[in-house]
Amino acid sequence: MMAGPDQPMVKVPMDLRAPEAGEVLVEIAGCGVCHTDLDYFYNGVPTKHPLPLALGHEISGRVVGAGAGVESWMGKAVIIPAVIPCGACDLCRRGKQTICRSQKMPGYDIQGGFATHIMVPSTGLCEVDEDRLDAVGLTLPEVSVIADAVTTPYQAAIQAGIGTDSLVIVIGIGGLGGYSVQVAAALGAKVVAITSKTDPGMIADIKSSGASLVLNLKDFPGMREVKKEIGAFAKAEGLRSTEWIIMECSGSIQGQQNAFDLMVHGSTICVVGYIMKTGEFRLSNLMAYHARALGNWGCSPDLYPGALDLVLSGRIDVKNFVECRPLDSINETFVAVHDHKLSRRAVMVPVRALV
Ligand SMILES: [Zn+2]
Ligand SMILES: [Zn+2]
Repeated sequence: MMAGPDQPMVKVPMDLRAPEAGEVLVEIAGCGVCHTDLDYFYNGVPTKHPLPLALGHEISGRVVGAGAGVESWMGKAVIIPAVIPCGACDLCRRGKQTICRSQKMPGYDIQGGFATHIMVPSTGLCEVDEDRLDAVGLTLPEVSVIADAVTTPYQAAIQAGIGTDSLVIVIGIGGLGGYSVQVAAALGAKVVAITSKTDPGMIADIKSSGASLVLNLKDFPGMREVKKEIGAFAKAEGLRSTEWIIMECSGSIQGQQNAFDLMVHGSTICVVGYIMKTGEFRLSNLMAYHARALGNWGCSPDLYPGALDLVLSGRIDVKNFVECRPLDSINETFVAVHDHKLSRRAVMVPVRALV
């Protein structure tokens, strides 16, 4: 549990009460480490639930207890949505679950996934077909990252209308960017990845994820030249010079500025990355280009089965983008992620699940 900002996390015994009506108790198989967790831990972003709090919102596991009315979940392998909507309010009924005002985010509103168990409402649980999981060579801990790293770009991609005739520009290839490239490519788009990283392993990974073109900002004097290069690529590929979909995944002011600078007529900017700092942008460009910027908070549970299917059908590779680590190493893992030492997304696994 996190006791305070920047203090080592500590083990605390859990109170495993019986689930109430509509609730399930999930034995956690794995929980992915997201940059949002680091924001709570290092950057002073407050959690809604008071400390001490177990962080973590990318959770897979098995239902080991079920309250009244939801007994059918007992024993099932599940992914818990990173944002759990109430399922009953006016917004939820109109399919706007991501803005449900009674939503619960594990590791923020309620106890989270860096633990052995979690109690959650059953609303929005996504069942994992374990035969298909085996068939594609994945384990339940590995697919925990679907809860945010895959579904958040997926919701952004669906919302932006990415399809087979889309040219998608992904800004930032670490973290969510790598998954965004895969999601866009899996939906049939041609993908251009933009980075300022020079690590050859990372570049090779991003190409094998489905990026048709990787542009390193260090090779260009400015964004005007980058835009020209993408224009030439679009022409060569027979794609439009309008309506580019730009997924800002770097969560940096520079990345957001670059997204703005790459705007063409009819563009959609998907704001996938997050940063506390503020930048200065000329919003009138949205007007002049008849463009739009779309924010994206989590993903509606309705879309989880579609995202899971892309993984289970092998169209999105999770295996080579995650690294399972014992939950006991959480403090070292947070330091390693914070220092950008890991090229894969860390998944914390309670030790009993490793054997
Ligand atoms: Zn997250
Ligand atoms: Zn609701």
